[in-house]
Amino acid sequence: MRESADIVGRTLAEVAKLIRPGVSLKTLDKVAETFIRDHGAVPSFKGYDGFPASLCLSVNDVVVHGIPSNKELQDGDIISVDCGAYKNGFHGDYCYTFEVGHVSEEIHLLCQRTKESLYKGIEQAVAGKRVGDIGHAVQSYVESFGYSVVREMVGHGCGRHMHEKPDVPNYGTKGSGPRLKKGMVICIEPMINLGVKEIRVDKDGWTTRTADGYPSAHYEHMVAIREQGSELLSTYRYIEEVLEKKEA
Ligand code: MG
Ligand code: MG
Repeated sequence: MRESADIVGRTLAEVAKLIRPGVSLKTLDKVAETFIRDHGAVPSFKGYDGFPASLCLSVNDVVVHGIPSNKELQDGDIISVDCGAYKNGFHGDYCYTFEVGHVSEEIHLLCQRTKESLYKGIEQAVAGKRVGDIGHAVQSYVESFGYSVVREMVGHGCGRHMHEKPDVPNYGTKGSGPRLKKGMVICIEPMINLGVKEIRVDKDGWTTRTADGYPSAHYEHMVAIREQGSELLSTYRYIEEVLEKKEA
């Protein structure tokens, strides 16, 4: 799983290199698929329940499951890039939200705090704690800024199948839900809205948007529960190296 996760991380970095105003979503998807296959893996998302692409590309008010189209990114957009890779019988699945060009302070903070909420959740991901401890940590952090947590979409166990038990909601009550056990791998993935928590799905059956049209951010990590603490199988290191170079 670490190897599958590593391919996802490096794929996200390849996509990061290309993110700028004017690049089309289809271009990003094509580059990702080629990179995944060149590294001996298969895109986990392509064909999953009929999903037509290798990446879920969700721009601005799209929360998750955006289908790569010929649409081009514009200055001020944010884009959640969710990627899955399957190799050696195991899936990797994680996500990062990128800023395109210059983003407003309000939306920049939404992204930053959503990422921070993911790490608040990860702190709770230790053997003996419960799934509700993770959800509570994410929810209480983001709601303190007036943001809202999507209810219908949740994190999940990951392994031989991309989506395994348990569900890992980004909201909840301390001490509730399934207990975390050593050896489990879970994907924690807060989907946090600037406005209301409600969502709606487009006629394509995939594209999931905020009901009020305000933006949403999404970050995901893969966490292995160990005897002592937890270990991230995913990393943003490759992405951050690209972003630092772009800023320089
Ligand atoms: Mg996931
Ligand atoms: Mg994902």
